Amino acid sequence: MDTPLDIMHIATELAPIAKVGGLGDVVYGLSKELIRQGHFVEILLPKYDCLDYQLLKNLKVEIPELSFDAGSVTIWSANLDNLSIKLIEPLARDDFLRGKIYGEPDDIERFVYFSQACLKYILTKKTPPNILHIHDWHPALTIPLLQKEKSLKSIRTVLTLHNLEYQGQCNPQLLTDLKIPPANSFLELGITYADAVTTVSPTYEKEIQTSIGGWGLDKLLTKNVSKLTGILNGIDPEYWNPEKDPHLFQKYSLSSLSHIQHGKKANQAHLRQLLGLTPSHLPLVACVTRLVSQKGPQLIAHALLRTLEKGGQFVLLGSSGTPEITHEFRLLKERFADNPHLSLNFDRNESLAHLIYASADLLLIPSLFEPCGLTQLIAMRYGTIPLVRKTGGLADTVFDIDTATVPVTQRNGFTFDFPDTAGINWALDRALECFAHDKKKWHSLIENGSKLDFSWKQSVQDYLKVYRPS
Ligand code: ADP
Repeated sequence: MDTPLDIMHIATELAPIAKVGGLGDVVYGLSKELIRQGHFVEILLPKYDCLDYQLLKNLKVEIPELSFDAGSVTIWSANLDNLSIKLIEPLARDDFLRGKIYGEPDDIERFVYFSQACLKYILTKKTPPNILHIHDWHPALTIPLLQKEKSLKSIRTVLTLHNLEYQGQCNPQLLTDLKIPPANSFLELGITYADAVTTVSPTYEKEIQTSIGGWGLDKLLTKNVSKLTGILNGIDPEYWNPEKDPHLFQKYSLSSLSHIQHGKKANQAHLRQLLGLTPSHLPLVACVTRLVSQKGPQLIAHALLRTLEKGGQFVLLGSSGTPEITHEFRLLKERFADNPHLSLNFDRNESLAHLIYASADLLLIPSLFEPCGLTQLIAMRYGTIPLVRKTGGLADTVFDIDTATVPVTQRNGFTFDFPDTAGINWALDRALECFAHDKKKWHSLIENGSKLDFSWKQSVQDYLKVYRPS
């Protein structure tokens, strides 16, 4: 093996202690696999009051007071499994004492302060890391700040774009004060100054270079295409493992179709009871998602009604919703309050999410855009068939049962192209028809999906090429 690398990640989420969406899973899974392959990893994270502290080991103060131009912080160290974490706690400020991770009016100020503190921490290290891997806009200011430090010139900076919709608008005065050239957003700064930029699937890499998918950054990305790489996310195969998952009613192995079927049946019966759904053999369609416009809420609502109409059951676990979208779903919940075939749940519930993956027959992901998407990968790992809109990472990982251009053994779900009701009807009707009348086909989809390797092994090889270009 080549010399091990010293890699520092700076992120705002880390599963399972601080997770809003897929970013947390990615930082966790990627870091674990890098360590497994012999590298050193350190993760810098804000010290949120809402961290799941029970899961942390050896939490202690590392540097009681670290001062920099904007203020001072305490640096804590801790372990999560075998991951080494540093938690940044602002002093005399309440930046991360908000009971949540994002969505505060001063998000920009909070994460700018965090970025400055991270840079200061790097400067205190006897040996700087080889790689500084920044995730999304929140810590992206660290990249141009770092470039101004002569002693840190040897560090290779990598920015991963997990979702271009969120960019972090810059305050021009702040950039002037920091002597950083003008820019509209922190993501723009990161893309401009990072040594390498990655995004989370090959298809999304192409989409973000178009005016439709680029959220205003397409021209900048096209200009920087030589340093841009699309690397598909993995999922941590230990964390997402129906054989060992503590959240399941019944654990099951993926070694044969009958094991999968037995396991899923037991979990499904339990889930129905838990959520007050009528016990039945009807197809169980589920959706585990943030309730934001990216995820196609109108299509989710439409599919829900269509599933009921066609004699199925539907479970939604929806979190972090924008108020208008959550309101629409709450109205649906009221309208169908007495319907025993529908369960709408509005929270982030890790345990229930696992049970749903293990129980559902079909997992619905009708996203308008999807950088990678993890829920389709998790679904397949639990023997659940994904039904997805063909976009971003969904297009890279789910292949329709009726796609003649893909070998039969690689077909693992149902897909549709256009995000409209006709598109989703087409996919959903075929899926429900297949469930009812073509069990052989249905089982082949379960088997094809469950055999796939979505671990981080291959993706880490791709990241190493970015970390260590030849
Ligand atoms: P995004 O990052 O855009 O939310 P991904 O598909 O990349 O979408 O990742 C979603 C992650 O968040 C998965 O691990 C999924 O299980 C989890 N998740 C999404 N919604 C919920 C929810 N309501 N409760 C629990 N976990 C959720």
